[in-house]
Amino acid sequence: MRNAKILRLNKAGTPIDWISREQAATLVVKDQVVWALGENAFEIRGGINRLGRQSVLSLPSILASDGSVKVGNFVPPLVNDYLFRRDQFLCLYCGVEFSPELLSRDHIVPASRNGTDSWTNVVTACQRCNHRKANRTPEEAGMELIAIPFVPNRYEFFYLANKNILADQMDFLKTQFSGNGTWQ
Ligand SMILES: [Zn+2]
Repeated sequence: MRNAKILRLNKAGTPIDWISREQAATLVVKDQVVWALGENAFEIRGGINRLGRQSVLSLPSILASDGSVKVGNFVPPLVNDYLFRRDQFLCLYCGVEFSPELLSRDHIVPASRNGTDSWTNVVTACQRCNHRKANRTPEEAGMELIAIPFVPNRYEFFYLANKNILADQMDFLKTQFSGNGTWQ
């Protein structure tokens, strides 16, 4: 719970950000929370009043705040942290799980052959498989992918971007997962 964050939505229910308890407290105090969800609640302690009582503010694990509901098309930033999590730290060629420092980003169609650096052209690969595949397509190398790479949607991205998700937050995000990932 100590590292847990609060999921901030817009009032239409679209995830906007992971925020800290302090940021959430500010929204509550400024009366900018429109509604809240989730079973978990955090308590944040404030100052001590004249009677010697400390104020305690209760914060929900998911809250919707006032403001614009416009959200544009969303493509998550392609960074290895998220990529490896999308692929569950598995090499998508040999299927073995590795720790992140032993993994690499493989371009299915190699970058040197105009393969793009995009979610659907990259997979997690161990160093051995990446080296073996070299400058070839999987077909040319005779190596088969164990899963089809996909672009995480907004809800999946919020899952990828937080390593300390609470169960109720996960339940909320999961409702909009595309079904491409196997980690739901
Ligand atoms: Zn491998």
